[in-house]
Amino acid sequence: LVSPRNAPGTAEGDGDAALRPQSLEHFVGQERLRANLKIFVAAARQRDEPLDHVLFFGPPGLGKTTLAQIVARELGVGFRATSGPVIARAGDLAAILTNLQPRDVLFIDEIHRLSPAVEEILYPAMEDFQLDLVIGEGPAARSVRIDLPPFTLVGATTRSGLITRPLRERFGIPLRLEFYTPPELERIVSRGARVLGFDLTSEGAMEVARRSRGTPRVAGRLLRRVRDFAAVEGAATVDAGIADAALRRLEVDARGLDAMDRRYLTCLGESYGGGPVGAETLAAALSEQRDVIEEVIEPYLLQQGLLQRTPRGRMLSRGGFEYLGLDAPRHLAE
Ligand code: ADP
Repeated sequence: LVSPRNAPGTAEGDGDAALRPQSLEHFVGQERLRANLKIFVAAARQRDEPLDHVLFFGPPGLGKTTLAQIVARELGVGFRATSGPVIARAGDLAAILTNLQPRDVLFIDEIHRLSPAVEEILYPAMEDFQLDLVIGEGPAARSVRIDLPPFTLVGATTRSGLITRPLRERFGIPLRLEFYTPPELERIVSRGARVLGFDLTSEGAMEVARRSRGTPRVAGRLLRRVRDFAAVEGAATVDAGIADAALRRLEVDARGLDAMDRRYLTCLGESYGGGPVGAETLAAALSEQRDVIEEVIEPYLLQQGLLQRTPRGRMLSRGGFEYLGLDAPRHLAE
């Protein structure tokens, strides 16, 4: 199965772990979320209780996994990570849950992809720290109840709407991640350059930041490619000019859109006259997974105002037509 996480253009590369901030203090951006989380963590520590279950949602690469790790570290508890598609059977989840230490953080990435049978046993585990298992089959089957150590479940998903309502309602702390602003990304990129040990001017960092689709993971990837480019060119210091040349080579334009974004917009604008078109049709036309379209490509184009989602399908906005250098239809032109 391909998920947006390992889809082309989103894979993490070499040395990614080195770029991960280790504390809430060093985590750049998501100010409101960070301030809230800080309070909830402090309160849980004060009460000497496990933190309530946390759900992070937002497009890939914005820091959900990083924050889950930070939460565990700030709570001073252990961290276990798994993901929805990996937990195939109820027994797999039971094995994970019964092996937790009291107050551990269990991180489940792509939690919307848990099977219904697994989700079912997660409910009492989240609510009462109890596991209801059925042992055996047929007339000999009996159900047993196992007490679990109290734990904190941290779930991550690309869209909260993908999660079933009963699951969503069991998270006491739902938190939404937003795209990062260029100045926030500039700080992340500058810090990344220091960690990677190369000299990047603040203008160079801004150039990378502006073109990172509002996403730290993309910023990290572009930063490493800029470093490669500078190394081959023999540049000791990377300034805006060198960064720009490197990014052009990677086909990232001045607006930060990459080749996949342009393919999407061009398809919508030229092949479908600006829409409305359904996601399924676009996915087929672009030979892309629908998940990638909806979770990776579209959120940023929507945020940039190039695209609109309507009940009848996706439509290019006026800005989208302008971006492509096409005349917008009259109803959009005013
Ligand atoms: P997600 O789980 O949302 O897909 P990750 O937590 O894996 O995203 O983050 C992707 C990459 O971006 C990681 O390399 C991480 O170090 C980096 N990153 C994410 N958020 C930040 C941030 N606020 N500051 C610095 N780096 C970040």
